[in-house]
Amino acid sequence: MKHYNYIFTGTGLAALLTVYEMILSNKIEDKTILLIDSDAKKTNDRTWCFWDDSNRLEEIISKKWDATLFADENFRKKLDIQPYHYKMIQGLDLYEFIFNQISKHQNIHFLQEKVIDFSDLGNHCLVKTEETSFTCNKVFNSIFNLTLVTSQKKYPLLQQHFIGWFIKSKEPVFDENTATFMDFSVNQKGNTRFMYVLPISKNEALLEYTLFSKDLLSKNEYEDEIELYIKNLGITEYEIVEKEQGNIPMTSYPFWENNSKNIINIGSSGGWTKASTGFTFKNVTKKSKQLVKFLETESDFTKFHKKDKFWFYDLLFIDVLFQDNSIGSELFSGLFKDENSGLILKFLDEETSLFEDLKVILKCPKAPFMKALFSRVF
Ligand SMILES: Cc1cc2nc3c(=O)[nH]c(=O)nc-3n(C[C@H](O)[C@H](O)[C@H](O)COP(=O)(O)OP(=O)(O)OC[C@H]3O[C@@H](n4cnc5c(N)ncnc54)[C@H](O)[C@@H]3O)c2cc1C
Repeated sequence: MKHYNYIFTGTGLAALLTVYEMILSNKIEDKTILLIDSDAKKTNDRTWCFWDDSNRLEEIISKKWDATLFADENFRKKLDIQPYHYKMIQGLDLYEFIFNQISKHQNIHFLQEKVIDFSDLGNHCLVKTEETSFTCNKVFNSIFNLTLVTSQKKYPLLQQHFIGWFIKSKEPVFDENTATFMDFSVNQKGNTRFMYVLPISKNEALLEYTLFSKDLLSKNEYEDEIELYIKNLGITEYEIVEKEQGNIPMTSYPFWENNSKNIINIGSSGGWTKASTGFTFKNVTKKSKQLVKFLETESDFTKFHKKDKFWFYDLLFIDVLFQDNSIGSELFSGLFKDENSGLILKFLDEETSLFEDLKVILKCPKAPFMKALFSRVF
């Protein structure tokens, strides 16, 4: 049976950025690494957006905005997001960029096969695919196991679910310098529903009809809302160039408790998705760096994750939104209406001090959060 130092089960965002960090660290030349994925990673299966104040991955940024827009049925506000820029990366650009780096390293291999099992046997791990079995010292797993979350009740699960259309319109209706972060002016229908608009030019944009809620909708329900939004923008003729869809877990379930000495769950499988927003990209860039640094001195993966105050804030946030899913528009409007948007983004990036946390928390409606806090504590 062939043996590797590291095996990555799943080769999506988290695996690729972790391997990229390993390459940048110059410390893995003596390690043999196998990346396994059932998919060839050769399609543009998603578009990532995130706010950032660094020039990381600058080579593959396809669009950058200096301003974003927030709206609900009562107000529209252009957000000054300094020191951040809102950035876009196409999935395929990231896959090609990192596979190109990997191709320069003979110790890193990719295998397109479906993983059916992996286990920690104490002094090594066993990974089985449909065709082959391997042993290794460490497994980095990003194959998401939804049953872990749905089979328990302590940590509720919401989903960020959406369908997006990338369109070209006849009319030049879009402001290409401003991304619409959240537009809650759409009918809420008892949920947290908003439109997310990423304009590339005056007549090209990705429009995503998005919900933070328990249950998925039928395809028609998302698409009817996108059509209505397009019509309300004053567009009479347009072409759909590309479609995407997703549902991202929003939960404070402690995924890291499933880590063992030699197996670590990374990406959404490791709880690297921000529970209160579903944003994952930025967290993955940070966690992958921390993980590679961690491996320089530690070898027991159960020591990697530490619970912090932000985990607890997200726990209450999800409890509140799970109890009353119609409150989302009010919650997010409260945050973005008066407060400095840069501070809110810093808070969502989990980089604020306790004093800054309080400034943000005091913008939230008191009663539902007190109720959620009371039920968690008692
Ligand atoms: C359409 C879409 C758009 C998104 N946009 C954003 C965004 O704008 N900003 C943001 O922050 N987040 C976004 N996300 C959320 C998050 O960033 C992505 O889901 C991200 O890809 C998660 O990284 P990951 O490594 O955890 O999972 P993935 O990137 O999904 O990687 C998991 C990999 O495991 C593979 N796999 C699964 N099962 C098996 C198996 N049995 N055997 C072998 N391989 C297997 C899959 O093929 C996949 O390649 C988006 C998600 C989607 C779906």
